[in-house]
Amino acid sequence: MTGPRDIPVEDFRRAGTRVIDWITRYLSRPEEYPVLARVAPNEVRNALPASAPRSGESMDAILDDFEKIVVPGITHWNHPCFFAYFSITGSAPGILGELLSAALNVNGMLWQTSPSATELEEVAVGWLRRLLGLPEELEGVIMDTASVSTLCAIAAARHALSDLEIREQGLAGRPELPRLCLYTSDQAHSSVEKAAITLGLGTASVRKIATDDEFRMDVGELRKAISADKAAGHRPFCVVATVGTTSTTSIDPVPAIAEVCRREDLWLHVDAAYAGSAAAVPEHRAVLAGCGEADSTVVNPHKWLFTPIDCSVLYVREPDILTAAFSLVPEYLRTGVDDEIRNYMDWGVSLGRRFRALKLWMVLRAFGSDGIAERLREHIRLAQNLATRIDEHPDFERLAPTPLSVVCFRACPSALNAHEADATLNRFNEMLLEQLNASGEVYLSHTNLAGRYALRLAIGNLRTTERHVARAWELIQEVSDALVKEAAAR
Ligand SMILES: *Cc1c(COP(=O)(O)O)cnc(C)c1O
Repeated sequence: MTGPRDIPVEDFRRAGTRVIDWITRYLSRPEEYPVLARVAPNEVRNALPASAPRSGESMDAILDDFEKIVVPGITHWNHPCFFAYFSITGSAPGILGELLSAALNVNGMLWQTSPSATELEEVAVGWLRRLLGLPEELEGVIMDTASVSTLCAIAAARHALSDLEIREQGLAGRPELPRLCLYTSDQAHSSVEKAAITLGLGTASVRKIATDDEFRMDVGELRKAISADKAAGHRPFCVVATVGTTSTTSIDPVPAIAEVCRREDLWLHVDAAYAGSAAAVPEHRAVLAGCGEADSTVVNPHKWLFTPIDCSVLYVREPDILTAAFSLVPEYLRTGVDDEIRNYMDWGVSLGRRFRALKLWMVLRAFGSDGIAERLREHIRLAQNLATRIDEHPDFERLAPTPLSVVCFRACPSALNAHEADATLNRFNEMLLEQLNASGEVYLSHTNLAGRYALRLAIGNLRTTERHVARAWELIQEVSDALVKEAAAR
């Protein structure tokens, strides 16, 4: 072989074997690493040269540096004591799917540019829809993230206001347009507001509806806000409900919200990025109650369905509205079969599309619906047990209900003599979190709930077992006790 080409296939095989061996070892012992990376800012960058090498280097040299420089700067989402944000797993079948998809390197923009990419996507989103008990008439598309799925859903909702001709005329320089109002709860994910920014609606168009004492959207307040906006001459157009909020995994009353949307003729989008997966567990299927009536729903298999990031599925009731909002087909992208097939480039912003369906299909097949239900059920059981331990302990309290696998709580040691909403407790819990995470043994995150600093422990990794949650709970008590002693000594 002569001329500039890819590295020799024999080198690929050797390096590939080394990579698979490394991954195999890593996945069997992620606990060898501190869960939270211990590098200082810029440490990784400074360990690497400013320019790429003139002449190519061997895969062995590159993989050596991967192990020596890159891995120490990794926060280990695979660690069984990763309890921060939403704990996730890119399972082995998903990793293999990613590998094959990188090898095929197809761009699934058109059906013709790889029929299997499009048709496997249709199959995989159909399997997922049935797994979650969503109605057959919903059509799905895979996007990178829930943020982009929600952006596209809100763009479709805006396009459904056909009299305003926003696709053609835009929003700027049109004083005759009313303000377009978007409703979501004060617990909604920031992606809703970001979508409003991106779509030219502005943050002032986002109405953050108050939540009840369990952090669920107050439907009475929603109705009031819609009436007030209509009375002021504004134009309500979309409600984004959340199934599994980011702070506490609270579940908005979607059936009641759907009823409001039906009466007011508003688009209903449901953000079920994390909690949607719970519907795969028969006894938790009700988490998606009402979503069958929504115009669009997003579920992230990369969150709690063992699929490597990125993989987000957007379901829509009327794909024609979504494609009408986005489809723009230049001559060079026309094919002879456009009437018979689906070109997923028409379903969103990007033209180029990774073959994400492959990993999702592999994960769903490798675990099966029973296997998925069993794994999610175990995560929920572990979280419920921890919630009980916290409730039973006089020096700790839960700060939100625990419907699924995320527990929000704080230490409230009686020895501190702190009052309910005391800043002392907030500072104490902030220190507690900092010390827990510095241990390298566990990684938790936090949130703010009605002015209270809450620790947040999320269970969602396939390697997390009873022992890991027990160790975390033990450590939380130990560190809290030590902090109390320190405070008393001062
Ligand atoms: C994680 C999450 C998101 C954002 O998901 P990305 O895929 O990272 O964009 C949005 N909404 C909710 C409720 C989430 O939990």
